[in-house]
Order: sequence, then structure tokens, then C-alpha cells
Amino acid sequence: MKKFDCVVVGCGPTGIGAALYLHSKGIKVAIVEKSTPGGKVNIAPRVDNYPGFHEIPGPDLAVALFERVMNSGVTFIGDEIVDLQKQGDKFLLKGLSEEYLAKAVYLAVGTTERKIGLPREDEFFGKGLSYCALCDGHFFKGQDVLVIGGGNTALKEAIYLAGLAKHLYLIHRRNEFRGSAKLVEELKAKGNVTILTPYVPLEFLGEDSLSGVRIQNKETGEEKILEVQGVFPLVGQLPNTQFINLDIKNEYGNIPVDKKMMTSVPGVFAGGDVLPRDIRQIYLAEHDGQVAGKAIEEYLGK
Ligand SMILES: Cc1cc2nc3c(=O)[nH]c(=O)nc-3n(C[C@H](O)[C@H](O)[C@H](O)COP(=O)(O)OP(=O)(O)OC[C@H]3O[C@@H](n4cnc5c(N)ncnc54)[C@H](O)[C@@H]3O)c2cc1C
Repeated sequence: MKKFDCVVVGCGPTGIGAALYLHSKGIKVAIVEKSTPGGKVNIAPRVDNYPGFHEIPGPDLAVALFERVMNSGVTFIGDEIVDLQKQGDKFLLKGLSEEYLAKAVYLAVGTTERKIGLPREDEFFGKGLSYCALCDGHFFKGQDVLVIGGGNTALKEAIYLAGLAKHLYLIHRRNEFRGSAKLVEELKAKGNVTILTPYVPLEFLGEDSLSGVRIQNKETGEEKILEVQGVFPLVGQLPNTQFINLDIKNEYGNIPVDKKMMTSVPGVFAGGDVLPRDIRQIYLAEHDGQVAGKAIEEYLGK
């Protein structure tokens, strides 16, 4: 078993921020990552709101972030944590390859986009299909776009996109929206929006990039093609918290924290996309990492 002052689970922007801070304070910290270091930045086609770069492809920024970690001397471990539980006044993290014991834990695990599950969804990702309107909406300025979803995130991002797009369609599989009625009214009030219910997507169309979506009315079976250059499936994000056996999650699996990024269990901290929040961006994740780093330092009494 490997022992650390702090184990950071997840090597995305927030985990990296916390690990760098803790290491710089002489705290024995390890960062454990199950997949590609850099987190979700790896799948951002182009990042243009990151200070220091006019714009940079997401994978390039992810590499830069990871290089910063590797050059710092932080212990990096490629492993997937499959169980987290309390053990006395410490925390036991079980990985697929190894077990880790830590005085404090930073949960920097992010979320996973819920996919529609249609053929060619992965093929069109970054070629007209995006799961982040705030990040990628401006690529579709003056074009026709489709939002799929009926929750608050879909409605809010549709309102934002309507300000950029020539025409915005929103389809939802039910006639009633899960999101707030106020947001539905706000969206309807836009001059360039068509809301279609109860419709589901059937097929993503296009050659090299997306050019349309075939949709179907769930009640009548009627099908139609929406000719759009952009599609945003916004049907939810799943927090990567299934492995956590501590009573720190809310009803959706997200992890609420206090001002110091500490969860309801002292010694367990969380930050970044895994928190319950409306906006999920790199700068917020990094901010959380810094705040958590300082708080973990205090918690450890260093
Ligand atoms: C398509 C797209 C485009 C985007 N574009 C932008 C943009 O232009 N600008 C911007 O500011 N933001 C953008 N974002 C949002 C940004 O990428 C996220 O807000 C940010 O990456 C969140 O950082 P994080 O560290 O909280 O989580 P993540 O980056 O998701 O990192 C979490 C890490 O934890 C790892 N992990 C999870 N569970 C485990 C486990 N059990 N064991 C080990 N490791 C684990 C994951 O593999 C992952 O690497 C975009 C997002 C998407 C999806």
C-alpha cells in the first residue's frame, strides 16, 4: 500500500491545480488518473478563453498542463480508483492496480457527457456536434443549430446559442419540460427559435461534417429533416462519483462543498466539474484547485 498526505483523484485542470499547489508546499501528494492526463480539455476542439493563449486546441492545452505536472515532481500514477472509504482518521482508496492510504483526498473526477446513443455521434464530435454550447457555440455564429434536451442546462444553453445562431431549433422527447417554465418562456420569446415536442433524434446526417438531423415525432411517427450545421445534445452529465462510498453526494451524484471546497466529511475535498453548478469551465476548475490546495494544507496542519 502506498501512503500519501493527500491523494488527488483525477488529472484534469482542478486536480492539476491542487496537486501543484500542495507539492510546492512540501506536502506528499500523488495524482491518480485513469485515462488521458488533462481531463476533458482533451476533447475540447478549441479553447479560446484560456488566459495566455489567443486560442489553443484542447489536446495541446492538455499536454501543456500535464507537462507542467511532470516537470514539477508531483507523483503521477496511472490507475483507476474503484473504491474510496474512511479508515480511522485516514482514507483508503482502492485502485485497479494498487491501494493508497491518504490523510486527505481531493476529488477532481469531473463528469461524463450523457450521449444520445445514435450511430455516427462520435464521428461528428468536433465536426458539427458538441456537448458544450458555452465553449463551442461561437463556431456556429450565423448558422442554424439544434439543441437536444429539455432540462435547465439545455434551455439555458439554447438561450445563449439563440443569441449567436441564425436559427435555433430545440427538440425534446416530452411535451413537458424538466427545466423551469421561466426559461422555456425566455427561449420562446426569442425571434429565431423553433421548439419541437415531442421529438427525438433518429439520425445524424452529413458527409465529412454534420449537415442535418433526422427527427421523429413520438406521438405521430412523422419524420422530418432539420438542416443544421451544429447540434448540441445536452441531455445531462453524469458525475464520475460511483466509486465513492462516503455520504458526500447529492441526489444527482454531484458533490456539494463549503467555501474551502471541503465536503461534509472532514479531510475529503472536491472541486471542478463534479460540483453541483451551472457553468463548467477550465478557469473555474483551476480556481477550485487553488482554493482546495490551500484548504488541504491547512487541514493537514502544514
Ligand atoms: C467539448 C467540450 C469543450 C470544452 N471547451 C471548453 C473551453 O473552450 N473552455 C473552457 O474553459 N472549458 C471548456 N470545456 C469544459 C472543461 O473541459 C471542463 O470544465 C474542465 O476540464 C473541468 O475540469 P475538471 O478537472 O473538473 O474535470 P475533468 O477535466 O473532467 O478531469 C477529471 C479527470 O478525472 C479522471 N477520473 C475520473 N474518475 C476517476 C477515477 N475513478 N480514477 C482516476 N481518475 C478518474 C478523468 O479521467 C479525468 O481525466 C469543454 C468541455 C467539453 C466537453
